[in-house]
Amino acid sequence: MTGHGCFGHYLHRVARREPTPSCHECGAVDDTAQHTLEECRRWDPQRRTLVAEIGGDLSLSSVVFAMLSSERSWEAVVDFCEEVISQKEAPRRMREEAVNAHPLRRRRGGRRRREYAARLLALGGGG
Ligand SMILES: [Zn+2]
Repeated sequence: MTGHGCFGHYLHRVARREPTPSCHECGAVDDTAQHTLEECRRWDPQRRTLVAEIGGDLSLSSVVFAMLSSERSWEAVVDFCEEVISQKEAPRRMREEAVNAHPLRRRRGGRRRREYAARLLALGGGG
């Protein structure tokens, strides 16, 4: 609902943890929450199950309306989100671990920590 999470759009533009906003599943240029919910072919089977329960209008307002209208619809949306996000999360974690394991990345992280420690010391010494 906020668009925050395991979506290329968010990970690139906001969290700055991905080099592009594209979809790792289908190659679409902008992987938003709405792309994941409505468009991405990778999630067609999960989407069919969801649409069978709440209908074909997957706009945010319709999905929220469906969720609030019955417990079954709520569960259908939760099931879709849990299954899709868990399948998107696993490869993202592997990509991030591969990046974090890189020796240059580790050195940069160490420098940032040292700079942060230096700033804290400077603040403490100025009082
Ligand atoms: Zn996609």
